Amino acid sequence: MNVNCPTCKKEVVWSTDNEFRPFCSKRCKLIDLGEWASESNVIKGENLKPNLTGHIDEFDIEEMLGEQLNEQFFKE
Ligand SMILES: [Zn+2]
Repeated sequence: MNVNCPTCKKEVVWSTDNEFRPFCSKRCKLIDLGEWASESNVIKGENLKPNLTGHIDEFDIEEMLGEQLNEQFFKE
């Protein structure tokens, strides 16, 4: 069974081996979480629900968003 990654739309196999499903990677999962967090103005970790999101701290999100901005900046 395949699904499309909600973040990058890449086809990804839905498997219990994929801990980031339905995302293709941790990066895409963090991007999705980051968008959700910024929309909700709860980017600080204390408002994230561990049971819902798993163990993701704000530094992971900031690092990920930084990479995303760099990619956009360098992409002509
Ligand atoms: Zn993806």
